[in-house]
Amino acid sequence: MAKKRVAIIGAGPSGLAQLRAFQSAKANGEDIPEIVCYEKQSNWGGLWNYTWRTGVDKDGEPCHGSMYRYLWSNGPKEGLEFADYSFDEHFGQEIASYPPRAVLFDYIEGRVKKAGVRDWIRFNNVVRDVSYDDASGKFTVTARDSEKDQETVEEYDHVIVASGHFSVPNVPEYPGFDGFNGRILHAHDFRDAREFEGKDILIMGSSYSAEDIGSQCWKYGAKSITSCYRSAPMGYDWPDNWDEVPALDRVEGRTAYFTDGTSRDVDAIILCTGYKHHFNFLPDDLRLKTANRLATTDLYKGVVWVHNPKLFYLGMQDQWFTFNMFDAQAWWVRDAIMGKIDLPDRATMDADWKKRQADEDALEDDYACIKYQGDYVAELIAETDYPSFDLDMACEQFYKWKKHKKQDIMTFRNNGYVSPLTGKKAPAHHTPWKDALDDSLESYLQTGA
Ligand code: FAD
Ligand code: NAP
Ligand code: MG
Repeated sequence: MAKKRVAIIGAGPSGLAQLRAFQSAKANGEDIPEIVCYEKQSNWGGLWNYTWRTGVDKDGEPCHGSMYRYLWSNGPKEGLEFADYSFDEHFGQEIASYPPRAVLFDYIEGRVKKAGVRDWIRFNNVVRDVSYDDASGKFTVTARDSEKDQETVEEYDHVIVASGHFSVPNVPEYPGFDGFNGRILHAHDFRDAREFEGKDILIMGSSYSAEDIGSQCWKYGAKSITSCYRSAPMGYDWPDNWDEVPALDRVEGRTAYFTDGTSRDVDAIILCTGYKHHFNFLPDDLRLKTANRLATTDLYKGVVWVHNPKLFYLGMQDQWFTFNMFDAQAWWVRDAIMGKIDLPDRATMDADWKKRQADEDALEDDYACIKYQGDYVAELIAETDYPSFDLDMACEQFYKWKKHKKQDIMTFRNNGYVSPLTGKKAPAHHTPWKDALDDSLESYLQTGA
């Protein structure tokens, strides 16, 4: 019998987890399917693969990157550590808890280099279209190879969508934007906080991008920061030149007017207004439509497309846990494809995601949300041979992280946390975050001041 063929779309942390999952089965002597991973960029790492580009990429496709220079992890690395590849193993030394982007990229890359899966990836290949044929029971994947300037059309038994969901910006329009005498940009296009040195900036939104981009601008010398919230304030004890105000009402010239009647003159408006689950390569019958939440609509176990269970999605949840959650999902999807896990009937799959959503809706606070996602990760891990680790200890590190942020939003990154893999507490970084202007790998790995 011919081998099954599996297409993976995207070589970010989720797609790479899937490659590592299949490779580990192969290393155990199992007969794995043929794997083809399509990646539109010229390198792996997904969002962690930094680009200075905005707008369109080298091929005229929407630019995937949403990360910026000087980005440091916003949660402790002890919460995202791969269970099969510790930070200690990769770096050969203990490192502090909030690595800058380049350091995490190096860690992500280290594991897949060791696994030797690069040959499974077709770089510079953007997937343009996926369709499913009931008669043959196969998917057709159409991609364009920008190096060869040629289209490929191939058939697969399974498709795994790992294209991420923090890349296509949600861009609202407010009265007066078209006449604003300054710069308006979305967080997706933010690249370098130094651009806003000496400027008065308005940040819209009250989630992670608002907090972190505002903090970057503060660190690199913005004159003032005003952040405005639609639903609830972030509520941290902000520095003196940072005010948090209610929602924006309108803009006139350079003046922003808020719903409490106050106003501010600003040089730039940064829309930290989130992202869309957007899959321009999928037809309606295969396309996930969900809010950014912990329990995604129409996905059994958070990964199986209930309308056609030969199709899988990775990493489509809102994320407290990241890399190790993608791993838990990838190992589970591997086993479903390889027949080691049986999928139930449609009614059972529907009941599963609906129950998960009802449970999520009943959660009272962020602590409960963290535990909920930790329990989900543990549930998947228990059903595969992915190495288990102490998820409760990982949750504890997130709880401490939240407390440290509440204590002081500009110093929380100076703390160290306990690794659920090694049981060791990370050392403090050699320089406080606010003074560490060099975010290179070399600088971060230096020991001692
Ligand atoms: P992505 O990383 O988005 O990777 C998707 C890949 O799919 C990309 O390589 C893309 O090029 C490719 N692709 C997309 N469409 C196609 C197509 N049609 N054809 C071929 N290839 C395609 N998480 C943390 O744990 N810690 C953090 O500090 C952190 N910081 C973040 C900061 C920002 C600004 C953002 C936006 C997210 C951050 N995250 C962080 C969360 C982030 O979502 C995950 O860490 C992780 O990158 C998600 O991996 P992914 O593989 O699911 O998606
Ligand atoms: P998000 O969590 O989805 O938050 C979107 C924000 O935009 C919410 O505050 C929302 O307000 C607001 N919003 C949406 N539409 C709006 C509108 N029309 N008008 C006003 N406000 C509007 O998105 P995010 O903050 O970009 O975070 C995305 C991901 O990136 C997260 O996983 C985060 O961890 C990651 N990230 C990480 C770092 C880092 O590690 N350093 C930095 C940035 C981002 P409501 O509450 O009213 O809906
Ligand atoms: Mg297990």
